[in-house]
Amino acid sequence: MKRLFKNAEVYRDGKTEIEDILIDGTTGKVEKIGRSLSDAEAEEYDLTGKLLAPGLVDIHIHLREPGGESKETIETGTQAAARGGFTTVCAMPNTRPVPDSAETIDELQKKIKKNAVVRVLPYAAITERQLGKSVTDMQTLSERGAFAFTDDGVGVQTAGKMYEAMIEASRLNKAVVAHCEDNSLLYGGMLHDGEKARELGIKGILPASEAVHIARDILLAEETGVHYHVCHVSAKESVRVIRDAKRAGINVTAEVTPHHLMLTEDDIPGDDANYKMNPPLRAQADREALIEGLLDGTLDFIATDHAPHTAEEKNMSIEEAPFGIVGLETAFPLLYTHLVETKAVPESQLLDWLTKKPAEVFQLPYGEITEGGYADLVVIDRHKKQRVDTENFLSKGTNMPFNEWELTGWPVMTICEGNIVWNEKEEKVR
Ligand SMILES: [Zn+2]
Repeated sequence: MKRLFKNAEVYRDGKTEIEDILIDGTTGKVEKIGRSLSDAEAEEYDLTGKLLAPGLVDIHIHLREPGGESKETIETGTQAAARGGFTTVCAMPNTRPVPDSAETIDELQKKIKKNAVVRVLPYAAITERQLGKSVTDMQTLSERGAFAFTDDGVGVQTAGKMYEAMIEASRLNKAVVAHCEDNSLLYGGMLHDGEKARELGIKGILPASEAVHIARDILLAEETGVHYHVCHVSAKESVRVIRDAKRAGINVTAEVTPHHLMLTEDDIPGDDANYKMNPPLRAQADREALIEGLLDGTLDFIATDHAPHTAEEKNMSIEEAPFGIVGLETAFPLLYTHLVETKAVPESQLLDWLTKKPAEVFQLPYGEITEGGYADLVVIDRHKKQRVDTENFLSKGTNMPFNEWELTGWPVMTICEGNIVWNEKEEKVR
């Protein structure tokens, strides 16, 4: 079916102009962009006053399936993504089983094909069962559609294994995507090693546990020439190490999460596991360094690290509950309200961090609106004001610190490959 979006404020090529867009649900592509378009066959939508942007791209989410279906499934996670305006999401491999062989990744691809409502690109593990002991058969996994390689959830502890993985990933022209955490520097920490942890009597996580690992990997990336991507940067020391590496011409990229941009340890109200994530919320100086790093290009884009858990698991104390918060359904309005509305960042910049930049870094043909390109689109109502209500989430996970925050700039329709996958008017996902 063809659809014609009329009078939208279309964001493309770095600027916003009022245009019409004709898309084709059969080919999944954008057929035409222009003024006063008409098409007898097409269903028309008047988008006067609405922003029409490329579908958002999230390089880092956890769908939990297979093995963690009580936390999230491919179906519920991608429904949450659709509602949040995301049309491409990359699923982390810390599932059971881990996608670390032809068999496990084939099985995962089948489930994605059957149940996903938006595009899911699966990661494969760097090491078998993510144990850090032996590097996976990366060539086979690449051939079966692995998006990139990561052991996210844990860091690859020994330099030697990381070095071997980088050599092979580099040969296959795939990225190594790293959760950076040196376990020998953890000392049982649960929150950032700062004031709040001391106040609550909880052991702290040193910034060095992240930064030391990044520094090690960056030297290995220099040695091997691999594209090395750092997950969820949280500490100012990490930003500095990445900045220096980029200046030295090393092929490193990095992401930052909305929660690390929004919150610090000072926001943790007490023993509330909705504030427990890995890496932890750090100090104000770290938060400022992350924003500065994004603005100067040291950090390349934003990714949610959407990490659902069951209510029972998260109702425990910080010391007992698992790490992680959800983020797909609130990422855009959260960032729009607190970065764009406050004039800290132009709208175009925020959109690029959520669309074009992640696609560019991983050489994906998404994240931009072009004639003949994928009809992956999100319609955003910049004036829509609404309180976050986790009870209403499509995600099974409600674990997050932003419940009841009043936010502006909500996605109201999401289109993936020419099909409407979320429409607020109908309160429904495809
Ligand atoms: Zn991680």
